[in-house]
Amino acid sequence: MELALSRGAAYVLCALRAAGYEAYVVGGCVRDSLLGRRPGDWDVTTSALPEETKAVFSGAPVIGTGVRHGTVAVLVGGEPVEITTYRVDGPYSDGRRPDSVAFTRSLREDLARRDFTVNAMAWSPETGLVDPFGGVDDLRGKSIRCVGDPARRFQEDALRILRALRFSSSLGFSIEAETAAALRADRARLEKVSAERIAAELVKIVCGTRAPAVLREFPEVVARVLPGWDCDPDALGRAPADPAVRLAMLFSTEADAEAALRRLKFDRATIRAAKALLAFRTAPLAEDRPAVRRMLRKLGPAAFRRLLAMRAAYGEPLAGVERTLGEVLEEGDCWSLDALAVKGGDLLAAGVPAGPELGRTLAALLDAVIDGRCPNERAALLELVPPQ
Ligand code: ATP
Ligand code: MG
Repeated sequence: MELALSRGAAYVLCALRAAGYEAYVVGGCVRDSLLGRRPGDWDVTTSALPEETKAVFSGAPVIGTGVRHGTVAVLVGGEPVEITTYRVDGPYSDGRRPDSVAFTRSLREDLARRDFTVNAMAWSPETGLVDPFGGVDDLRGKSIRCVGDPARRFQEDALRILRALRFSSSLGFSIEAETAAALRADRARLEKVSAERIAAELVKIVCGTRAPAVLREFPEVVARVLPGWDCDPDALGRAPADPAVRLAMLFSTEADAEAALRRLKFDRATIRAAKALLAFRTAPLAEDRPAVRRMLRKLGPAAFRRLLAMRAAYGEPLAGVERTLGEVLEEGDCWSLDALAVKGGDLLAAGVPAGPELGRTLAALLDAVIDGRCPNERAALLELVPPQ
């Protein structure tokens, strides 16, 4: 079986081999290649110790981060390749990270510490695929299965609970029965996982193709990381895979969304976008141009489009509003102060005093244009300004 390696990965394997070490591409890139997907990044696993790896790549820019954990990142023609020494993890006492790691010269031991069988395969041009745990079978059966005893693997590292849900959702795989039972049983351990890691996995879970099934099959796991969630999984599955839209659809109120997303330390823009969607979740939407312009003024084009997509996913017939929105944007209707033909300076010149009055007058003129009571023309607008 051949894998189409990236240039960087091919070079790294070749250089390590030439120096007398074993080297394989491993993990997600092998899984994705076998699925016919283009890997996001290429990871290499090697028998070389970190210092030995650094010596092999002494000519290339080496980012020495993570040397303690055995990872050296090299930049090959601009492409970063992470090279990790074969490793076995020591005991886990905090439910999240091994207390120590030890290097090994055995590829099999390195593969055994990896989370799921589909992530525990390695490949090199000389040996072909190395798959000691049945990863190919599970790829064929579309199954997420722990390497080894699931209960133990989730007890070692609770992040794997969410990774299982994430791969199930994004790859469209189901979770094998014992693995599913163990992750359900161990869900309380999710409290050991940092908010940032939970947030990153959650986005991938809700944006995956199999998100509705995952939410339906593991509600008690989701509740552990998202107290207050309340979601129609089928509607969520019909919505675009836009994080703000899908996160908003996990809640029925702005307050619940804000509390849960803040707790998970989501960035402010995402929280604001999700709240805006919930604020307008049931607001009346009409398809006449003034109504569409008014919504644009409140939300802007991107958020308005997200709102329409979300509400359409809930089953609202919104084709008329979408059509009007297209026309309004295409034809350059004025719906914001930026596009208004009169600026603050014009009003000052017309004698309107600086201060709040100026803002109110501009807003009233914009209202007149949006409602279609006045064309967006300077002279016509200035005529509406009451004499000072
Ligand atoms: P992605 O496509 O998201 O990058 P990936 O499988 O490459 O998926 P990474 O987080 O990049 O995931 O990890 C690379 C590899 O390291 C995984 O394929 C897996 O073999 C191993 N791995 C990562 N995280 C864990 C973990 N928490 N426990 C065990 N093995 C892990
Ligand atoms: Mg990866």
